[in-house]
Amino acid sequence: MNTVQHFQIGADLHTHTVASTHGYSTVNEMAAAARETGVKLLGITDHGPAMPDAPHLWHFHNYKILPHEICGVQMLYGVEANITDEFGHLDMDEHELSFCEWVVASYHTSCVQFERTPALVSQGYRMLCENPLVDVIGHPTTAMFPFDYENVLKCFQEAGKLVELNESSLQWKKGALENARIFYALCKKLEVPIVLNTDAHYAGLVGKTPIAEQLLRDLDFPKRLIYSLDPDWIAETAAKKRKMLSAH
Ligand SMILES: [Zn+2]
Ligand SMILES: [Zn+2]
Repeated sequence: MNTVQHFQIGADLHTHTVASTHGYSTVNEMAAAARETGVKLLGITDHGPAMPDAPHLWHFHNYKILPHEICGVQMLYGVEANITDEFGHLDMDEHELSFCEWVVASYHTSCVQFERTPALVSQGYRMLCENPLVDVIGHPTTAMFPFDYENVLKCFQEAGKLVELNESSLQWKKGALENARIFYALCKKLEVPIVLNTDAHYAGLVGKTPIAEQLLRDLDFPKRLIYSLDPDWIAETAAKKRKMLSAH
């Protein structure tokens, strides 16, 4: 079967811990929950410093002390960096991002001041594509950041950025699901690979993506474009990319 039926994501690459104070579980609790739901690769991506309750930068600098396997789950330690303007700048520079194995880049209303017109948001995303350290574009379909889907998706594709389908935003953010029906239909049409992430801020939500799955079933979305089903590929690609970037 090539299209989505029921499935379990093997990689959940965008989650938060108590390091962001609006997160409620520890790294160990998140890993234990991942094991329970069948997630083999777990990305811990607490918020970058522009978010009002983000951890201190030392949180990221000290990732080296954490084990790469907890409760039998492979761990990827990264960040959800904030895109701070209409020029695609992030709230962490190259040095700070070098401590992270995985970088989700997202727009949040609390971290920007420009007028969020489709032209300026599109420009911000296009310029973000020039940053080689960004792996994933976080929750792109919230109504607060409208942009030219088709044009920008082509940029993401050319730059090799993975596009996220974010369970938490589908559930909680106004307009996200309605926009997602249009946006992910375009991903299917243009053959843009996606990852399903929970954006869990609590261990009980890790690995569970019922709204996203239903959406993909409705769209008859091809499984081969859902990279979260292949955690080994994600882990290998992330490791290779970091090795290549650190050699330069
Ligand atoms: Zn976010
Ligand atoms: Zn998040």
